[in-house]
Amino acid sequence: MSARASILPVFVPHLGCPHDCVFCNQRRITGEPAPVDAKRLREILSALPADRRAEAPQLAFYGGSFTAIPEERQIELLEEARRAIDRGIVSSIRLSTRPDAVDAARLERLKDYGVDTVEIGAQSMDDEVLRLSGRGHTAEDVRRASGLVKSSGLKLVLQMMTGLPGDTEEKCLRTARELICLRPDGVRIYPTVIVRDTALFALWQRGLYREHTVEDAVRLCAKLLPLFEAAGVPVIRVGLNPTDELSGGAAVAGAYHPAFGELVRSRILLEKAELLLKNAEPGSRVVLGVRPALLSQMLGQKKQNLFALMEEFRLGDLRVEPNSSISGEIEILSIENH
Ligand code: SF4
Repeated sequence: MSARASILPVFVPHLGCPHDCVFCNQRRITGEPAPVDAKRLREILSALPADRRAEAPQLAFYGGSFTAIPEERQIELLEEARRAIDRGIVSSIRLSTRPDAVDAARLERLKDYGVDTVEIGAQSMDDEVLRLSGRGHTAEDVRRASGLVKSSGLKLVLQMMTGLPGDTEEKCLRTARELICLRPDGVRIYPTVIVRDTALFALWQRGLYREHTVEDAVRLCAKLLPLFEAAGVPVIRVGLNPTDELSGGAAVAGAYHPAFGELVRSRILLEKAELLLKNAEPGSRVVLGVRPALLSQMLGQKKQNLFALMEEFRLGDLRVEPNSSISGEIEILSIENH
């Protein structure tokens, strides 16, 4: 599964959700006030270029609990999507849903209509965190639903969050390890953002929830990503997709940054550089080589990684050069002691 697979998202905000989870306001997160219906979906699909099978995007129903939508309405949407597959204008379908709305019969129906991937909002594998977040399901529901998706032959993507009410770093690391054991084909990591008009916003205003800052989330995600990647589980998204609505004030506080994934990958490289430089003497002049595609991540926004390393190790000079012949992502090309 590629993070760059072309996806055409259509939104069904809160459709099928039995209630609102404390952090969630899909109308503000997606910027879509109303769920797509069959007529609107037909309009969206008919605006796509005709039969381009090789490049056809995957149609994604996001923002709600698809398999909990009343059956008739699911079928209306799936029928439109299926027709688009038959006409070669979309390649397949993916959708997101809740773990307690998954069973074998519903998965069979999805397969019949050309669904290829089911994304399950696990969010945490800690029952107390799930309870405090108003999720209305348990970690066991996530295990059961994931097993059903895997055994149905559909691809499984698991979504986890960090910084939820009652959450800790240890619980997030445990969640990541448990998700890996469920053998997903990909994961998404969404650090908690305090979104206007949510229960979490009210809790935060009353001092009953401590904000998960961008810095908290970057530090934690820089530990989570390597865990998944070492286990061969692709991380297909880190951080909420930036939207005008979120950037325009709906994200009131918490871990919202339009380039959050970049911040995390930049932090991972900073930590790798710190390990390489741990024996550098103060005043040393260092040249670090980095794979060309990673140069801007290594430097960090406004070269902050460079300045941080200079200061931390009291280096006399530090240069970072793109180098395609190094074996890893980053290595010391030369070091001259003062
Ligand atoms: S997090 Fe998922 S289940 Fe909860 S309200 Fe939002 S869309 Fe619905």
